[in-house]
Amino acid sequence: MGGLVSALVLAKEGLKVCVLEKNNQYGGNLQTFSRDKLIFDTGVHYLGGLSEGQNLHRYFSYLGIMDDLQLQQMDPDGYDRITFGYDQTEYPHAQGYDNFIEQLVKNFPDERENLQNYCEEIQRVCNQFPRYNLVGKDHYNEEVLHLNTKRFIESITPNRKLQSVLLGSNFLYAGDSENVPFYVHALTVNSYIQSAYKCVKGGSQISKLLIKRLREHGAEVHKHSEVSEFIFNDGNVLTGVRTKAGKEYFAEKFISNIEIRSAIRLIGENRLKKSFLNRIRSWEPVSSCFSVYLVLKPRTVQNFNYNLYHFSSEESVWNAYRYRKDAWPETYMLSSTQSKHNPDFAESLTAISYMDFEEVKEWQDTFNTFAEGHDRGGDYETFKLEKAEKMIAALEKKFLI
Ligand SMILES: Cc1cc2nc3c(=O)[nH]c(=O)nc-3n(C[C@H](O)[C@H](O)[C@H](O)COP(=O)(O)OP(=O)(O)OC[C@H]3O[C@@H](n4cnc5c(N)ncnc54)[C@H](O)[C@@H]3O)c2cc1C
Repeated sequence: MGGLVSALVLAKEGLKVCVLEKNNQYGGNLQTFSRDKLIFDTGVHYLGGLSEGQNLHRYFSYLGIMDDLQLQQMDPDGYDRITFGYDQTEYPHAQGYDNFIEQLVKNFPDERENLQNYCEEIQRVCNQFPRYNLVGKDHYNEEVLHLNTKRFIESITPNRKLQSVLLGSNFLYAGDSENVPFYVHALTVNSYIQSAYKCVKGGSQISKLLIKRLREHGAEVHKHSEVSEFIFNDGNVLTGVRTKAGKEYFAEKFISNIEIRSAIRLIGENRLKKSFLNRIRSWEPVSSCFSVYLVLKPRTVQNFNYNLYHFSSEESVWNAYRYRKDAWPETYMLSSTQSKHNPDFAESLTAISYMDFEEVKEWQDTFNTFAEGHDRGGDYETFKLEKAEKMIAALEKKFLI
């Protein structure tokens, strides 16, 4: 998304642009895949800020993809719903700030004023990010950058349950409510409170449209083109890149949209300032996730037009990513896709929970992509199957009681 959008902005501004993608599908985390003729998303499951006048709508309109996107608005009274343990109550995050407050006040009648303060503060913080709002010059208020999510939420309300409900979608920023700056929480939830949409037929329609527009603007786009080397001249200026297949591309300017540690390896540490390297090294990599994709028998599960964020307890919201292996999955996000033939029912479900890198460390030197297929072996298949079974057991426990 980042690379394709950067490329399209430059192409629209008249520059000669070339995109190099290592995989078979463009879009990275926007990729989709299909099983049993059903489409599944790998990364992006829902998007915020897509109603007229809102930020993503404006960006996508400028990029020329807005009118061609097939979108479905999620439930206005609860696009995300938070649940705890075996309590059947679903605490909603509703669209529109007034509605967000009204829907939560039903569960927390004494908290209206605190919820109003929460909403005001979210919007105040978001208003200080010029590029997010497409106004003014780049200038960031230091005070806002250093606010901490945990301290902020605790200052809003002493009600522990409401605190957990407000943080309930923190899976979107890897669950670390204790360390994450408040602006990350604010920018994320604000976007969905404004409006929340699903991409009908998956998020890859965004990357397909971006590629189409890139081609219309004369850009070159190449897949199966993994950049494996940067080429520098004698003056240490980056002049070209070499792909794994040995092809070289020369240009005046380069934009890297890959994970920053991988980019540093390609640049070479000796070319970068120590202070910069130390800052990157000090960042703890966040937890990854494990997704289970379920194709349902017809008319078995009612469709729901929202995401369910489930936690085994209120407390687990605070550090769900530090899960106990034997109790996995103590938390998950569940979404459904409406059946084309029986609209009241779901045709598929996606359940996602945290997965620490340690769990897959033994396969760290293996990979299996469409572009380069490799077998990771029977142990890996068993690992995946066991995890999937655990997730299905957890879902059955929650939905059958
Ligand atoms: C499970 C999951 C669920 C998510 N859900 C949502 C959601 O519901 N809503 C939402 O808004 N966001 C969601 N996200 C986040 C969103 O998907 C990502 O933030 C976004 O897609 C990241 O885009 P990117 O351009 O930064 O990086 P990426 O998508 O990682 O793109 C990087 C690209 O670079 C390519 N590449 C890597 N190395 C090389 C190389 N050496 N040479 C050439 N190409 C290379 C990769 O193949 C990839 O295509 C989710 C993410 C995950 C993982």
